[in-house]
Amino acid sequence: MSDSEPPRPRKILSLKSGVAAPGGPPPLERIQRPDAKKRVVVMAPEPPPAPAPPPTGDFKCKPCGTRFDPPAELADTDSVRCPSCNARLGLASDFRATPPNVDKLRARYLKK
Ligand SMILES: [Zn+2]
Repeated sequence: MSDSEPPRPRKILSLKSGVAAPGGPPPLERIQRPDAKKRVVVMAPEPPPAPAPPPTGDFKCKPCGTRFDPPAELADTDSVRCPSCNARLGLASDFRATPPNVDKLRARYLKK
């Protein structure tokens, strides 16, 4: 960079403040509305506080009562374990059967 230009001062476009209207600015009237008391205060609906997510899962571990879904990545011959108490609750294939083979599972099927 041999010929570097000195930075030119930018022209600042100054907005004319206080545009002088002929006859001066219009007077700002403070209008007292008689029905000011009637003004309806619109309350913005408050978003409900995020509740703890409800327990999800179609099955319920019989030993501990935790709701869960059998992991989708399990093979049919894998055992489904309770995510909470780690109890073996049955084969994934039995969980996936429609309807689930609850007789073979140590879990309750919650969806009917
Ligand atoms: Zn459990």
